[in-house]
Amino acid sequence: MLLREARVGATNEVVDVRIEDGRIRSIDPREVNKVASGPTFDLGGRVLLPAFVNPHCHLDKAFLPWTSTDDVTYEGGVLAGRMKEAKREFTVEDVRARASKALRWAIETGTTAIRTHVDVDPSVGLVGVRALLELKRELASVIEIQTVAFPQEGMVGQPETIALMEEACAMGVDVVGGKPSADEDRRAHIDIAFDLARRFDRAIDLHVDTDIDRDYGANVERFEGVDYPADLETYYLARRTLQTRHPRGVCASHLCALDALDPPLGANMVGLLRRAGLSVIACPMSNLFIQGLGDARDTRRGITRVRDLLRGGVTTAYGTDNLGDAFNLYGTTDMVLHGLVTAFACHMRTVDDLAVVAEMGTTTPAAILGLDDWAVRPGGRADLVVLDADSLHEGLTRVVPRHLVLKGGRPVVSAQLDELFAVTTPEPDRRGS
Ligand SMILES: [Zn+2]
Repeated sequence: MLLREARVGATNEVVDVRIEDGRIRSIDPREVNKVASGPTFDLGGRVLLPAFVNPHCHLDKAFLPWTSTDDVTYEGGVLAGRMKEAKREFTVEDVRARASKALRWAIETGTTAIRTHVDVDPSVGLVGVRALLELKRELASVIEIQTVAFPQEGMVGQPETIALMEEACAMGVDVVGGKPSADEDRRAHIDIAFDLARRFDRAIDLHVDTDIDRDYGANVERFEGVDYPADLETYYLARRTLQTRHPRGVCASHLCALDALDPPLGANMVGLLRRAGLSVIACPMSNLFIQGLGDARDTRRGITRVRDLLRGGVTTAYGTDNLGDAFNLYGTTDMVLHGLVTAFACHMRTVDDLAVVAEMGTTTPAAILGLDDWAVRPGGRADLVVLDADSLHEGLTRVVPRHLVLKGGRPVVSAQLDELFAVTTPEPDRRGS
């Protein structure tokens, strides 16, 4: 296959990209490929990027219908309680139907790999895990799905949930998740996650430090001569990562409170994250939706300090987080739109930042998910997306349509998706409550 006249990323150079056996074979000047064998796509100078990789979302909760009409409150655990009620009604068919809708949107907008957290707790059991593992197998030709077992209701003192987490790992989930703030003893929650990840040889990806109201300067701990905010969940997560030398990836999703620290403590934390090799996944859109909701003035954004993390050499990507549920009513799977929101929300202001934003939605999350060779270069995987724009700037600012999506060197076309999703999405027996 030949992609003729492709503009690679933020460059102005227009080249021909030759693809064979699911990989990029060569990238040549235009005039080299006057005669092409195999299918040829004339891109006419449109922007070619590695396909998008969404490293953080919640497919099991996608498009919960009751959220669209409710005035959601986040105070006093009201939302958590209602989410728990809603989860009791989940069925495998219902989760499959809603997740399939989100996955189809994702694929059509150029995402060919995605990591989804899936709730695991006594109210929902393993219903979401079953549904997502089925979809993972059935849709492998068009999207690579990684699943994270997510104990949203906590784990400390809940042997039933820990047993479900173990069962989820045994069933084949890829990653151990967690949310330390769901338990009073947040460090114990992190310890349980590490123990599960060690026993099942899994990566770790935790929802951390979404609480921006704490006084993080009140409890400073000295470690190897440097001050750190002891109450920050990520501080303990980094310490445990250093201590255990966990051989799989360790990831901190959200990390909103990094922005609530005094700058010196924040700088110390960035240094520790870099040293521990932790990755960070920012979720700007859902943080803008929820964080600071109770602020009477000067409303906080609650988005982690992306520019400081990038400058400090910490692997940092963005993810969509929630998709049309109460945590983000407007959640969408379109990684271009999320790139634009990230650029705005994180003060990515320069021309160079533009290329960084593109990396944060493509090559960087691919590295976090352990996907090798995710790049437009010879030998790179031919998971690619073409934006209907002649510059990256235009592609991002206009959130342009996707001209072409390739998965493993094959174009993803509507007829193929119609066929696949007709199988994966039988009529649900209920549509939420
Ligand atoms: Zn999340």
